This record gives sequence, structure tokens and C-alpha cells, in this order.
Amino acid sequence: MVQDTKRFISYICPHCRQSVIVERSVFSIAASPVHIKCPCGKSELRAEMLGDRVELEVPCLFCGHEHRVSCSSKAFLYQTALAFSCAASGLDCCYVGEEGPVYAATARLEQAVDKLETESAQQGAFLDELVMQEVLSEIKDIAQRGGISCACGSKEWTFRVNFSSVDLICKKCGAEMRIPAATADDIDDICCKTNLVIRGKR
Ligand SMILES: [Zn+2]
Ligand SMILES: [Zn+2]
Ligand SMILES: [Zn+2]
Repeated sequence: MVQDTKRFISYICPHCRQSVIVERSVFSIAASPVHIKCPCGKSELRAEMLGDRVELEVPCLFCGHEHRVSCSSKAFLYQTALAFSCAASGLDCCYVGEEGPVYAATARLEQAVDKLETESAQQGAFLDELVMQEVLSEIKDIAQRGGISCACGSKEWTFRVNFSSVDLICKKCGAEMRIPAATADDIDDICCKTNLVIRGKR
């Protein structure tokens, strides 16, 4: 007999930076794909059991991308604690396991995020300095051509530089858009854009 134990799954939302921790029973994980939405509604973690493996899609705070990771179903359902990490930054982006270890690991990750944010703000330390410079200069180019606006109609905006991303913020309605600045792909992505539209908050 398999016992219906509880599993805890956590990640940090790349949009609102809150940690999201949910509880799922082993039976429910086995029965249907898991969708974990952040209360802000802007990110979602997905996990699906496919035979003896579980595939996950994890939104990543550090590089702004979604990571596809997988592990054995046995580990996903029964291991005390599992950590999945971001390929670009090497930092953890998702935990699965028992209640205590998952909450503890998530709390440590929150602290690491705070530290990174403070350090990058103070010293201009980025995940990849070159990528950040390129992305910032592309944003500047687009801005000079008047290509940055908000869905609310405003053309007044400001920005915030993070460890591995840049947030464009509408001065009128406060809507935000995150532009990843972690890998060379992020430079390619923004290079081919002629305008950027900050979408309204809701
Ligand atoms: Zn969120
Ligand atoms: Zn990542
Ligand atoms: Zn706006």
C-alpha cells in the first residue's frame, strides 16, 4: 500500500518576488498535472508525472526564463528534499519535498535573493555584466526612438536594474515589465524589437 503523504513544492515568483509554497498529496500528483499559480497571477509552475519521471517547468527569478527540469518520480514523491537550480545563475529555483526542509530551503533562498538584490544595487554586480550592458544599451536605443510605452497610453516610464533583469515601470499606472538580462539569448531577443509595450497591471 502506498501512503497518501503530503508533498510541498516551492518557487519564487519572478514577477512579484513572493515565494509560493503549496501542498499536494502524492495521489493527486500521480493523478493529474500540477499547476501552481502565484497569487499575483503572473507566473505558474507546472509539474507532470510521465511514467517513472516527473517533468517540471519552473519560472526562474534569477534569469527570467522558464527552466525545464526532470527527476525520477520516486525522488519527486518520496525524497526528503529536492532542489532544482537555474542553469544560468547556478542558484536554486525550485524545491520539492517534506514540509520542514522545503520551508527552510525556501527561506534561505529568499535571503539569498535579498542579498543579491542589495549587492547588485550597491555595486552594480550582475549575473553577466556584458549581457546586462548590451540589454541596457538596446533599451536605450529603443527609448531614443520613442519605442517604449505602456498599454495605459502613457509614454512616461522609468526603470530598475536587477541582478539579471531590467524592469520597465510605467510612471502613470505603475505597471511593470521584466526584461531578462541573463544570457546571450536575451540580447538576441531584445535586439529584434523595435518597441516595448508595458502591459497594464490587470
Ligand atoms: Zn507573483
Ligand atoms: Zn534561471
Ligand atoms: Zn501605464
